[in-house]
Amino acid sequence: MLLRLMWAHLLVLGWMFHNIAPAGAVSLPDDLPRQRVVVIDPGHGGDDVGAVGPSGLVEKAVTLSVAQKMKEILSETCEVHLTRNGDFAVDLEDRTAVANHYRADVFVSLHAGGAFRHQGRGTVIFYYGHSRSLESFAPEEHGDSLEINEEPTRWDEVQDKHGVRAQLLAGLVRGHLREQISPVDIGTRKAPCLVLRGADMPAILVEIAHLSHPAEEADLRKPEVIRAAAEAISDAIKEYFTEYP
Ligand SMILES: [Zn+2]
Repeated sequence: MLLRLMWAHLLVLGWMFHNIAPAGAVSLPDDLPRQRVVVIDPGHGGDDVGAVGPSGLVEKAVTLSVAQKMKEILSETCEVHLTRNGDFAVDLEDRTAVANHYRADVFVSLHAGGAFRHQGRGTVIFYYGHSRSLESFAPEEHGDSLEINEEPTRWDEVQDKHGVRAQLLAGLVRGHLREQISPVDIGTRKAPCLVLRGADMPAILVEIAHLSHPAEEADLRKPEVIRAAAEAISDAIKEYFTEYP
């Protein structure tokens, strides 16, 4: 807001000066501070419902709710795009293609199913990479299992160059989620998630909670929890932009 006010002030001054000085004597700078671009990916959609909670809450609805709240919050300071803004299916490659198209500064894929520990609970944030410690995160019979790829391809290099930043962003999201919704904290993990693979910017996958766990499903039904999760992830993104310009 302060920046916008300062910029508006500069524009007015520039206009005044332009109208006093000889034509062409003053030109506005070309290097305007570029607005940050955030692409949020609500996991699943359409026929792909994602995980289903014990009382029937579906992951695709949870991820869309959090994404829409995040858009509301972040649009005050950033340019925000969602990979889907309704209940329809989107291919994994198309999700990162949206982020690449808009030249996003960060790409955040939202999930709530527990992609790797279907019977577990808690919050985990993934960034892309191949890890030997994946045994404890073996994919199970779940929609998310499609989102893992053990075979390195040339596309790995695209996300690899953003690995350090992605890990920093993951750490900030973890911190804010712990502070603002106090989930059971599993931590940050490196994993070969397909949906992050082709993103040419720091990209993370946030498993907000395990919908398969009755207590976590009950939490995810509460609008205040959805709001708090959206605020926590948004605050982490804002902090990332401030800390790592
Ligand atoms: Zn999922």
